[in-house]
Amino acid sequence: MKFNTKAIHAGQEPEKTSGAVMPPVFHTSTYAQKSPNEHQGYDYARVGNPTRTALEKLIAGLEEADECACFGSGVAAIDAIIKTLKPGDHVLSTNDLYGGTYRLFTQVFEPYGIEFSFVDMTNLEEVQSSLKESTKLVWIETPTNPLLRVIDIEAVADLTRKKSDALTAVDNTFASPYLQQPLLLGADVVMHSTTKYLGGHSDVIGGAVASSNEEFMEKIRFQIKTSGAVPGPMDCYLILRGIKTLHLRVQRSVENAKAVVDMLTSHPDVDHVFYPGLKTHAQHETAARQMKDFGAMVSFRLKDDTIEKAKQVMSGTKIFTLAESLGGVESLISHPASMTHGSIPKEVREKVGITDSLIRLSIGVEDAEDLVEDLKQAIEL
Ligand SMILES: *Cc1c(COP(=O)(O)O)cnc(C)c1O
Repeated sequence: MKFNTKAIHAGQEPEKTSGAVMPPVFHTSTYAQKSPNEHQGYDYARVGNPTRTALEKLIAGLEEADECACFGSGVAAIDAIIKTLKPGDHVLSTNDLYGGTYRLFTQVFEPYGIEFSFVDMTNLEEVQSSLKESTKLVWIETPTNPLLRVIDIEAVADLTRKKSDALTAVDNTFASPYLQQPLLLGADVVMHSTTKYLGGHSDVIGGAVASSNEEFMEKIRFQIKTSGAVPGPMDCYLILRGIKTLHLRVQRSVENAKAVVDMLTSHPDVDHVFYPGLKTHAQHETAARQMKDFGAMVSFRLKDDTIEKAKQVMSGTKIFTLAESLGGVESLISHPASMTHGSIPKEVREKVGITDSLIRLSIGVEDAEDLVEDLKQAIEL
């Protein structure tokens, strides 16, 4: 089965009692048993719910994984992954990372004795020299936020396997499985904030972990049962419904992104455009190899590199909504220096390229010409 068919059908069967094509939203906390422990596969809804199962099978199909487990948020999914480790274990992570992940690693798990290093994973020598005997997990996020750098998943997973017994995990939120399937590139674990492209309509928070490593997934199932950061059935339904059009939405978003990138790269007020699809992008070839297309996230810096100019652009758009998050049908515009990366000191963020006028776009599925015009008039205000 090809991806577009899987997005509709993977693991999906009509409901047994009625033939309903879409899974019912099973609003129940518990399940009747015939005799103690004799039940139909479900005993308590923290552990499992049929609506959640339908979603898990669908995401497993899209990520070419044997199993998937869903969570109440993306960070809850990451939390469960880190809880499979022990004090003294080392995690090697990318340094250009979703802020919430960085906060979870350094403020929750570091105090419990798990060690983290943050390195530039576009530099494979740095990856090689940072792997230690105690490294049990390598954490990749690609493309990165907000600078859209691309990490070679296959190369990092290869190095990791040769030098340690660590698992390689990829936060695949920015690309979505339509554009990038980390397990096929040699990663062991893939994680999603289903809040973003999978849900796709900015109406739900959720997370997922998928893998074919049975021992690892057993630990994740144990986390679900024991820590209980589970999604409700209605949330699972919304994400499942969103996934049915994932391929259509992402494809259109990418087309629109390319139109926006064309305008930005030729605009006299724009200093630099960050987009893996540009031939001048430092990891363009890696992106072309490991992604089906270059995504719908775009960042750019203005020649007038000031917060005032950036604010003028962001308040001037009529279609782009000024908001955090990404991956929905509507186009969003945001300002990393004051929003997502506001807590990082100016010298530190500027060193990695997050300057005052950097603007991040999540391109949606509106009309491309409208998006281009909207952004252009805001830049020229
Ligand atoms: C949003 C996001 C998360 C966190 O997910 P939530 O659903 O907001 O908890 C993790 N990683 C990336 C790359 C994200 O964009």
